[in-house]
Amino acid sequence: MTNNLTRKQKEELCILLGEKKKRRSILNWVDGMVNENGVPVTLEKHEFQRGIWEDFSERLYVRKAAQIGVSTIFIFKCLYLLERFGYNIIYTLPTLMNDVQKFVPSKVDPIIKANGFKMERDTITQKQLGRGFWFFGGTMSEKEGIMTTGDVTVHDEVDRSNLEVIGTYKSRLGHSQYKRRWFFSNPSAPKRGVDEGWLRSDQKHWFVKCECGRGNFGGWQFLDWPANVDFSNKRYICIHCGREITDEMRRQGQWVAKYPSREISGYWVSQMMAPWIPCSSLIEDELNESPQFFYNFVLGLPWLGTDSTINRDVILRNLSDARADTFDVFMGVDVGQVLHVVIGNREGIFKVCTSNWNELDAFMRLYDCRHVVIDAMPETTKAKEFRAAWPGRVKLCYYRSPTTRMPGSQDIYTVNYKEQTVSAMRTEVIDRVIAEYAENRLRVFISPSEPRLIGGGGLKRGESFLEHWENMYLFHDEEKGYKTWEHSGPDHFAHASVYFWLARQIGGSREKHKVRVQ
Ligand SMILES: [Zn+2]
Repeated sequence: MTNNLTRKQKEELCILLGEKKKRRSILNWVDGMVNENGVPVTLEKHEFQRGIWEDFSERLYVRKAAQIGVSTIFIFKCLYLLERFGYNIIYTLPTLMNDVQKFVPSKVDPIIKANGFKMERDTITQKQLGRGFWFFGGTMSEKEGIMTTGDVTVHDEVDRSNLEVIGTYKSRLGHSQYKRRWFFSNPSAPKRGVDEGWLRSDQKHWFVKCECGRGNFGGWQFLDWPANVDFSNKRYICIHCGREITDEMRRQGQWVAKYPSREISGYWVSQMMAPWIPCSSLIEDELNESPQFFYNFVLGLPWLGTDSTINRDVILRNLSDARADTFDVFMGVDVGQVLHVVIGNREGIFKVCTSNWNELDAFMRLYDCRHVVIDAMPETTKAKEFRAAWPGRVKLCYYRSPTTRMPGSQDIYTVNYKEQTVSAMRTEVIDRVIAEYAENRLRVFISPSEPRLIGGGGLKRGESFLEHWENMYLFHDEEKGYKTWEHSGPDHFAHASVYFWLARQIGGSREKHKVRVQ
C-alpha cells in the first residue's frame, strides 16, 4: 500500500512515525534534569502537567493561572525539539526590553547551565544547540519581531503581547513541514488572547474522582470555584456528596476534553489543580486581591468586570510602528499649568507631549489640524483667544455629569457649532475611549521607547501618558447613584486623549463637516 505514496508523502510519514516514537519519550529524556531553581523535574505532585509535557499538537493553547510551572515546561520542550530534531524555534514574550532581557537570563540560561546543554551559540536573543536555532523576540512592534523562518513558534504571555504582531509570526512557518504554534498565558478578558484560542480548542478540564460515584460521570467532576469549596473548613469538597476532595485526589485527576473532536488542543490550568497550593491560599487570595487578579492569576479564567482601573497593556496593545499619515490631523488639549497635548489622525494617536500656548499655534501650522477640542476650564481666556485665532477649527469642551444630561438626549456628546463648544457626558466619553483601546480601534503610532509615552528616560515619575491613564479609577457613587472616573494622581493625558477623540469624532463625517460650514 505504501507503494502508492509519493516520495513526499513517504517522507512526511517517516517524520510523523519517527516523531511519535521520540515524542513519547520526552518524560524519559527530561528525567534526572533540574529546573531553573535546581530542583529535579518530577511529575510527582504535578500530575496535571503530564498532558502539557506530552502534547505536541500543531496548535496548542494553555490558559493558565500564575505559578504553576508552565513556562518551565515549554523551555524544556524547546530544548528537547532543538536537541532531538534540530528544529528552529521562535519564542516570543511581550517586549524585548522588559521581558526577553529578564526571562532568558533568569529562567532559560540556568536550565541550560544546570543540565549541561552544549550550546554552539548562546546569547540572550539567539541560541544554537546542534542543528537547531532558538530565537527570542518581543511583540510590541514589528521591529522587535524575528524575521527568520522557523518550525515552531512559542508565544508566552500572549495576553500582554501585541496580538497583531503575534499573528504575523504565522508566516514564519511557511517553509516548515513541522509547523507548530503554541500559545500560553494568564488570560485577561473573555474572548481575547489566550481565551479566544482556548474557546476554539478541545477545552480540556482537569477532572477528579470522588468515591461516591454520583453524578453523570460516576463521581468524576472538574474542579470549579466556588462550587467545590467548603469555605468554613477551607478545603475542597465533592459537589455531589460534600465529602472532602483530598490533595491526593486532586493529584490523581485526568484531563477530559469537552470537545474531543476538535483539532486545536487546549488546557485550562487553575491553582485549584495544583496539590501543593492549599485551598486556604485561594480563599485568602479571593478575599485580599481584586476580582480581576483572582480570576486571571489564580483561577486562570478571563474576567469581564466593571473594570475599575485601566491596565497599561490595554493601551500598549495598540502600539504600531507603521508610519502615521498626517493628512487628516486632530488635536486634544487639556489645560492646566502646562498644556497636555494629544495629536493624531483618523486611525489613532501619533504624538503626546506637554506644551504651551505659543507652541500650540506652531502645531496648528505644522500639522494643519482640522479640529481641536480644548478644555474650557480652568483657563477660559487663553482658550478663547486660541479659538478666535483659528476660526471654525477649535471647540471648547464642557464636561457634564450624569445628572445634567440634556433632556431627551441619548448622545454622549453634542456640538454647538454656533458657539463652537462641545458638551460631553464625562463618564461616558471616557468609557468610550477606553473601549476603543480595548477593541484595538485607537492605535498608538509612538515608539515603545518614548519616555513621554511610558515613563523613564529622565522624565519625573507620574509625567507619562500611560501613568496618567493608570491613575484613573472608576468610582461608584452610591449616594448619587452613578459612577464617575476619579484619579489618584495626574490624569491630564487621559483627558487630552478624550478631547482628541472628540475632535476626531467631530471631523469624522462629511455630513457634520457641511453643517459646520453652513
Ligand atoms: Zn462525592
